[in-house]
Amino acid sequence: MLLASQPPPCSRQPYWQKIPFWRDVSEEQFLSYRWQVANTIQGTSKLAAFLSNVLPDNIPHALPSSSRLGHIKTRNTLIEDVLEGVTKAPMSLRVTPHIMSMIDWNNPLEDAICRQFFPLGSNILPDHPMLTLDSLHEEADSPVPGLVHRYPDKALFLATSVCPVYCRFCTRSYAVGANTDTVAKHSQKPSRKRWEAVFSYIEHTPNITDIVVSGGDAYYLQPEHIMEIGTRLLSIPHIRRIRFASKGLAVCPSRILDTTDTWAAALVALCSQGRQVGKHVALHTHFNHPNEITWVTELAAQCLFEKGVVVRNQTVLLCGVNDNVNTMSFLIRRLADMNIQPYYVYQGDMVRGVEDLRTPLQTILDLEQHIRGTIAGFMTPSFVVDLPGGGGKRLAASYQTYDRESGVSTFVAPSVKGGQKVYKYYDPIAGD
Ligand code: SF4
Repeated sequence: MLLASQPPPCSRQPYWQKIPFWRDVSEEQFLSYRWQVANTIQGTSKLAAFLSNVLPDNIPHALPSSSRLGHIKTRNTLIEDVLEGVTKAPMSLRVTPHIMSMIDWNNPLEDAICRQFFPLGSNILPDHPMLTLDSLHEEADSPVPGLVHRYPDKALFLATSVCPVYCRFCTRSYAVGANTDTVAKHSQKPSRKRWEAVFSYIEHTPNITDIVVSGGDAYYLQPEHIMEIGTRLLSIPHIRRIRFASKGLAVCPSRILDTTDTWAAALVALCSQGRQVGKHVALHTHFNHPNEITWVTELAAQCLFEKGVVVRNQTVLLCGVNDNVNTMSFLIRRLADMNIQPYYVYQGDMVRGVEDLRTPLQTILDLEQHIRGTIAGFMTPSFVVDLPGGGGKRLAASYQTYDRESGVSTFVAPSVKGGQKVYKYYDPIAGD
């Protein structure tokens, strides 16, 4: 396998070799997409075996014994807590070797990547009484299954319901991933029949100019499916812009560099095809923390940049992950330096099972206040709330009212559904 370009040798550390299981895994193996897929951690027995191998005997932390996680002092108590969390969580567990290699297993309770993927039974708080499984009312706004049409000129095509990783806080936990003990999924499997109904709706709705192809994750569409969907959409005269949504660059960047795999080549070809007919095709990805970025990520981002693929990033604001100015600023700068446009920072959605990860609205308002002006305007993300109930994305600072005591903020969305409705976002109810 040949890499698209070479980094300075000093930066090329085999960071995966700190995992005892992967001590002897070569660079060539680790960078192969087939190896990444074959060694992805999913299912409780594989997870327990991995954690037993990687965790120290004693789990260090400075938490008081009375706190929710204070009792977790040994490897076994942590593994038991994670397995309990998996049975309570709305998302099944799947994590790539790239991500597993970037977690600090000597300090897992304070690791920002660990928090995003591994639920802890003791840390799951009661859901806010106003939250719902499909918080953004996507199914209610779907004229055909798997096509959300909320804004006048934009639609969201859910082409699959599978992802290379499953994020605990996924907005689409009603549909994405395998069924869990707590959620029977309304999955949107890739199927030509279903896609045909989606294409037909788009073809007959001339006011739609923008399509986001998501899921699930477009990384789990076969390269030929990427080409088929993209070419079909580009052939529709009123479609001017297409975005493929994939966390792949963040969680399995080596695929972009793997010349034995053709996913990136399909995307590059579509971007070029789009340019030739004056239409824009882009990749939207999802980094939440600077620790997710390695030399492999930098190479993959450079490869896409050299080939003319526009990449934008959508970060989710998460408590204990990126809810401070230093981390968020550093993430934005790292993305900008890789020519990935920091496009959105989202307030965490009001979905099931992740109250420990949500922040009050005030956090995103404070972040924007401190970050805006510290980096070029075109590299400054919009700080937004995707309104519960289907009001769409609004700037967090555009709230109509915000009662900080009760934690209730109100918004209006003039361009959505007649613009009359008042939408409410509820801060998490404070735990310990
Ligand atoms: S990659 Fe995206 S769609 Fe998949 S679980 Fe994460 S947030 Fe949800």
